[in-house]
Amino acid sequence: MPTPIAHSLVSLTLSDARPEGTHLIKWATFWVILGNFADFDFLPGILLGAPGRFHHGFTHSILFAVVLSVVAYHVYPLIFRRRVSFWVFLSVTGSHLFLDCLTLDTASPFGLPLFWPFSQAYFRFPFSLFLNVERAMSLRILLSWHNFLAISLEIVLTLPFLVGVWFVRNGRRLRREREGLPSN
Ligand SMILES: [Zn+2]
Repeated sequence: MPTPIAHSLVSLTLSDARPEGTHLIKWATFWVILGNFADFDFLPGILLGAPGRFHHGFTHSILFAVVLSVVAYHVYPLIFRRRVSFWVFLSVTGSHLFLDCLTLDTASPFGLPLFWPFSQAYFRFPFSLFLNVERAMSLRILLSWHNFLAISLEIVLTLPFLVGVWFVRNGRRLRREREGLPSN
């Protein structure tokens, strides 16, 4: 799996344009949590002192991504008073699986149980774009050069897409303002 940085940057890239008048932090927090939600399967392992123990379980399946998207689709309008296409939510939850399948996996089981509960088989791409992250309950390992390199690679590979989308959205917003139309 990549770090939450790659998942967050890709989620914000795929998200809707921020609704007018909505606080940036509140809006970004929603999409960052949604894009990282599958990795909350770390929590029980962290509590037991073995972070990876339950990682890459059912939260990394296509079924879970669809169910999570349905929930997010219904929760979003309650928070932001605006409807967004279901496909936007599915692209964000699906991007988590996609990025994980593109990451070097050095710990068994290798890959993701994409078709859980219908199949227990694990899947991943035969090549990797992102480096694995060294995980341990030790700051020395978490702050290692390897992890620094992994995070740098993630930023180089994902940030340009977010910057590109920001320019497009901002340009659109400015154009609409010039024409006297509502921003979104
Ligand atoms: Zn994951």
